[in-house]
Amino acid sequence: MILSVFLVGRSLPGFGNLVSAISRKFRARVQYAMIDMPATRSFNKKREQFNAEKLLRDLFRFAPPPGDKAVYIIRDDMYAGKLSFVFGLAAERACILSTARLDPRFYGEKDMEKARELFKERVIKEAVHEIGHMVGLFHCPDRKCVMAFSNSVEDVDFKEKELCKNCRKSLPGDIIE
Ligand SMILES: [Zn+2]
Ligand SMILES: [Zn+2]
Repeated sequence: MILSVFLVGRSLPGFGNLVSAISRKFRARVQYAMIDMPATRSFNKKREQFNAEKLLRDLFRFAPPPGDKAVYIIRDDMYAGKLSFVFGLAAERACILSTARLDPRFYGEKDMEKARELFKERVIKEAVHEIGHMVGLFHCPDRKCVMAFSNSVEDVDFKEKELCKNCRKSLPGDIIE
């Protein structure tokens, strides 16, 4: 499996480290690049959020070759369906992740050092979560498992970066480290 990780629109400090952290979780060749935000009608001006489904569709025009999977990371906030916001959304071959609400500064954290560490942890968790969906995993009832659904950053902080035993078992061995 080749995972192409795209940072969309705005730079993200530590992006390279993030990518290598992701690549240590899956047995995949990971490549990454920065791309521009495509022409898209997925931004809802009233909500000041992207519609995640629409944006993912627009981004997937830059799709990797069949068999490979794409991870798009945006720094803007997004929503999906009836949910007022989402951290991420996954389809079979592509997923999108918003770092907006994973950033401790969004909630007023002033300690930059602490914010940076926590932010990194959260982004890794949610990236692994969305990639987990792409390789066929569903939400997990184990709240410590990275595949647990997160409704808030508290949920994200509560869970681990790892797949639980059951989730690992349901994946073919050649996908995970
Ligand atoms: Zn999920
Ligand atoms: Zn699990």
